[in-house]
Amino acid sequence: MTRKNFLKKLSLSTAGIYFASLWAGCKAATQKGISFFVSGANAKIGHLVREEMAENVPISHTEKHEILIIGGGVSGFSAAYFLQKKGVNTFKIIELDDKIGGNSQFGENEFSQYPYGAHYLPIPNVENVDLLAFLQEKKIITGVDAEKLPIYNEQDLCFDPEERLLIQNYWQEGIVPNMHLTEGDKKDLNRFFALIATLKQAKGEDGKAVFHIPLAEASQQNEWRKLDKIAFSVYLRQENYTSKKLLWYLDYACRDDYGQGIDKVSAFAGLHYFASRKGKGANCEENAVLTWANGNGHLVTLLAETFLPQIQTGQLARKIEMTENGCKTTIYDSKTAKHYVIESAKIILAVPFFVRKKLLANVEKTDFSLPIIHQPWLVSNITLKNFTDKHGFPLAWDNVLMNSETLGFVFAQHQSLKTQHEQLVFTLYKPLDKGEAREIRKQYYAKTEEELQAEIIADLQAFYPNIAEQITAIDCHIWGHGMISPSIDFLLNEKKKDLRKPIASKIFFAHTDYSGISIFEEAFWQGKNVVEELIN
Ligand SMILES: Cc1cc2nc3c(=O)[nH]c(=O)nc-3n(C[C@H](O)[C@H](O)[C@H](O)COP(=O)(O)OP(=O)(O)OC[C@H]3O[C@@H](n4cnc5c(N)ncnc54)[C@H](O)[C@@H]3O)c2cc1C
Repeated sequence: MTRKNFLKKLSLSTAGIYFASLWAGCKAATQKGISFFVSGANAKIGHLVREEMAENVPISHTEKHEILIIGGGVSGFSAAYFLQKKGVNTFKIIELDDKIGGNSQFGENEFSQYPYGAHYLPIPNVENVDLLAFLQEKKIITGVDAEKLPIYNEQDLCFDPEERLLIQNYWQEGIVPNMHLTEGDKKDLNRFFALIATLKQAKGEDGKAVFHIPLAEASQQNEWRKLDKIAFSVYLRQENYTSKKLLWYLDYACRDDYGQGIDKVSAFAGLHYFASRKGKGANCEENAVLTWANGNGHLVTLLAETFLPQIQTGQLARKIEMTENGCKTTIYDSKTAKHYVIESAKIILAVPFFVRKKLLANVEKTDFSLPIIHQPWLVSNITLKNFTDKHGFPLAWDNVLMNSETLGFVFAQHQSLKTQHEQLVFTLYKPLDKGEAREIRKQYYAKTEEELQAEIIADLQAFYPNIAEQITAIDCHIWGHGMISPSIDFLLNEKKKDLRKPIASKIFFAHTDYSGISIFEEAFWQGKNVVEELIN
């Protein structure tokens, strides 16, 4: 799930890797001795998201705040973080879920914490000074060396062994395939990674990097942008890449970061995945990865620590109206089952597009006719007793099976200093990309617990056929609208820029949907950018 130093990997090869299921709600069941749990916001709130609000719903009380932030994911929290940096503390955050963090939230059991969604952050590019400053403030960066490269806290850098790939029942080191390669495979792999090395340096006519994070600060003038209009697979065919191993790897990488493979994401997005990350550190290799047992829940917790009392969970915004002096938001409190109103001078709306459309139905007539796809995901945390491994490279942080529908599993306790664990927790990632997102979403919401459990066990059995007896617990999370995908003609579409424009200097927008690439760095930038807009 990471883009490591590919060329290094390749030289080895020549010698020889949303919304939660709101409607499903929380359930617990036991089958065949396995404790089974579907996590996510409660079912009542889920239904309300879809339903129209009655005209005369009783209002219990009215609160007043200068700024209301709607959405307690990374983008909303980043906005709060940057407001505080500007000396503004007069905000309140409401979040519909009982947990904070949105797609970066986490769970735990007696053996480990584990992610429900986002689980790693590659070391940021050196130009990303705000994110580097945040990591330094939170002691993930402990200093800089003589060349001003950040020194990362060893405890936060992914420990070795980092990645492995199961090919023909044998674990190889790394995810880029390096076993049983033909001359054609080697040629294509070498050619592709040479192209990426060049693209990392590519600059547009405006002097800015072509492939850059955040995307909004990348070059706006360059010939590569036209590749946003074709599929990545089409581009690869045009360039005569035919190695099945390379094509599998590229498809895997896109499914990993974007939830969709090379046939569905744009060629620009495909290249961006590899060419935009240029992170360097004093004590780690290029593009090293920061990770924690609770995944990016760790970063969310750090982000929120200075404004925790200002966050209220279990609060669903249902309707926003404009008033003479600002905005009026009607909110459903799932804890008291009552509606109330927050009047605020300004709103930062840190929610996905489809929620915005509902909330602002009476306020805006924005054109959303763009190829917008929110990709569903199934993330399962599986607890195992007496786990025994296969032959080859030992258990790593990221463990991938070639040609599988899943992306493989992350070992949740990988960063633990303990050498023995009573039970192991594996986080199995599965983008639900075999068909149309809307249909798949419906299908998964309708699945029974038995069906879900059987599917998850079968997915893990693809790695280990006899694993079922070792499973003691499964805690799974269906992300119905998981993440926005950089589908063909979405990322660089001119119309997309307009979506982020504030309304009447009162309603401001921040969410990874506006970037089109759903990663921590983009969410962090969304928060910074919205605060600049709001303050200015
Ligand atoms: C399965 C999965 C794995 C991922 N893995 C990674 C990874 O390893 N690394 C990485 O960098 N990124 C990863 N991501 C991307 C991740 O989505 C982003 O990093 C980031 O967390 C997105 O933050 P956000 O605030 O933009 O959006 P969200 O997380 O969608 O936050 C929006 C928030 O708004 C709340 N909300 C929505 N409607 C309302 C309402 N009406 N009222 C109140 N609150 C509301 C939601 O509950 C949510 O908390 C992953 C995503 C998924 C789905």
